[in-house]
Amino acid sequence: MMRFITVFSLALAACASAPAAQNATQNTAPQPPQSNQQEQTQAQVFEHWQADFSARAIAKGYGSDLVRSVIGNAKINPRALESDSTQPEFTKPVWSYVDGVRSPARLKSGQAKLTKHATLFAAIQSRYQVDSYILTSIWGLESNYGNNIGTQDIIDNLATFAFEGRRQEFGEEQLFAVLDMLKNGQVRKNQLKGSWAGAMGMTQFIPTTFRDYAVDFDGDGNQDLWKNEGDALASAAHYLSRHGWRFQEPILAEVLLPDGFDYALTDGSKRTVASWAALDVHPVGGQNWSTNAQLLDAKLLTLAGHKGPAFLIFKNFDVIKRYNNSTSYALGIAILAESFQGRGQIVRDWPRADKILSLSDKKSLQETLTEQGFDTQGVDGRIGPNTRKAIRAWQKANGLPQDGYVEQNLFAQIIAQ
Ligand code: CA
Repeated sequence: MMRFITVFSLALAACASAPAAQNATQNTAPQPPQSNQQEQTQAQVFEHWQADFSARAIAKGYGSDLVRSVIGNAKINPRALESDSTQPEFTKPVWSYVDGVRSPARLKSGQAKLTKHATLFAAIQSRYQVDSYILTSIWGLESNYGNNIGTQDIIDNLATFAFEGRRQEFGEEQLFAVLDMLKNGQVRKNQLKGSWAGAMGMTQFIPTTFRDYAVDFDGDGNQDLWKNEGDALASAAHYLSRHGWRFQEPILAEVLLPDGFDYALTDGSKRTVASWAALDVHPVGGQNWSTNAQLLDAKLLTLAGHKGPAFLIFKNFDVIKRYNNSTSYALGIAILAESFQGRGQIVRDWPRADKILSLSDKKSLQETLTEQGFDTQGVDGRIGPNTRKAIRAWQKANGLPQDGYVEQNLFAQIIAQ
């Protein structure tokens, strides 16, 4: 869609400037031939981009043969832009997402993978100090254990992003990473297939991640994250390890909160488990925290407010967010990893009857809060940290629990003011 709008507006601009062209021809300064500009198709504009990008890549020291084979053969993929610009009006509530993550089929396949690759997992663990459960969870969620790795041409899609749209900087950076991967001999060009957004292989690494963290675990000279389980899982382990994974420390623990708990403390502030225990925050099973656990730093997470389950989340939870910066994703990954170990049941149920907000609701929530003096720092239809902070401030001003969670009832109250 975006492509046609752009082409259309180029055509309009050319028409609008046509009368001025007659004056321009009388000017002595050299002018580009006007008729060519008018006839310039998107393909020609793309060719200019290819030439420009190639010149800059060669100036940076990439070989001209490499640049020609990668950039010279790239094609625009309009569907990549369409996928990128689609923001769904309705998304799943977090409870549906988490239920879907730990589906019986994904659990069963994961258990089979853990058994089948036990020796490989042991070797990876001894090198990277990352356990099999978290790796299997990532593998299962990122690509359904390699069954859904994407078949799109990575170079075409990244070149398309670099050429036009809202992801030009991303597209450029990732294309340079592709050139690096090929220059380094990490992969072969014909392996470069993946998702529309440029994520590749069983672990769905984007090129910058691939370039910096992929490993050749079986030592055959190729970092095959598409077909080789050892390369893929060791690469994920390497990534987690480099981002601070703490072997044998927990990712999260579900907790019960006392009556009258101050939900303002779910704003991401960090304290030790012992300090949370002093506030009557205890494991759902009623047991005491172990001596080791009491020393750990943790944050309190409630994704569905005071009516839903609460979790203490540890350093490893934040490491998972380095993989994909989404709290729901990290919760899903953690719950799946726990499930492989016979845990992962969430004891306190979600407020499943709650009606969640659509994209346009979220935008009007942000506009309304900002108008009322609770600044959401923009209107993007995403309930991120700034919007949660504004919701908490509104809740505080209105004598409600400051959990930063909004569903249709609270939305109606906010709008009504
Ligand atoms: Ca290999």
